[in-house]
Amino acid sequence: MTIAVRRQNNTKPAKSNGTRPSRDEAEQAVETLLRWAGDDPTREGLRDTPARVARAYEDWFSGYAEDPEEYMKRTFKEVDGYDEMIVLRDIRFESHCEHHLAPIIGRAHVGYLPTNKVVGISKLARVVESYARRLQVQEKMNAQIANTIQKVLEPKGVAVVIEAQHQCMTTRGVHKPGVTMVTSTMLGAFRQDPLTRREFLTIIGNPSSTLTA
Ligand SMILES: [Zn+2]
Repeated sequence: MTIAVRRQNNTKPAKSNGTRPSRDEAEQAVETLLRWAGDDPTREGLRDTPARVARAYEDWFSGYAEDPEEYMKRTFKEVDGYDEMIVLRDIRFESHCEHHLAPIIGRAHVGYLPTNKVVGISKLARVVESYARRLQVQEKMNAQIANTIQKVLEPKGVAVVIEAQHQCMTTRGVHKPGVTMVTSTMLGAFRQDPLTRREFLTIIGNPSSTLTA
């Protein structure tokens, strides 16, 4: 359906601050929401729900406990002069929008032009995961992934394209299923050189032709 394209450049990774509430407090909060929804938290089916939700949060938001830059630090220098584009495409991720706590489900495509060092490809996927497992805005997550790779690897350029569906848009509000949001961050050679950018977009299957403009 409609494809929204936004391009963004620099956003610093967010750090959570303040003291963390106890698990008990978290479960209490869930119980309040259950009552707010109109249900009875003491009925059998809901009795363990606050505890389950707290555990689910530990999984969905495990990214706050991770340092994505660490994943990029083990690099390989023996690449026999390989200096062509490296692309990992279709990295599936699950995230949550910071405005509604609703799931964002999509795929990220990550590419870079190495200078003298490369990382294991699973590390690129881990960086995506670390940022996805936080409360997110797609544009911000897109920039965070690109900036982290640029900062640690110092390649000639980094390209990150994300295509995702936002369930806050499909299941509530405007109720528009099938809408995919596409964002991209192009740094260095991918930003400056249209041919490099086009090569990357061809490799990932051109999610939106307008990105080549
Ligand atoms: Zn939302």
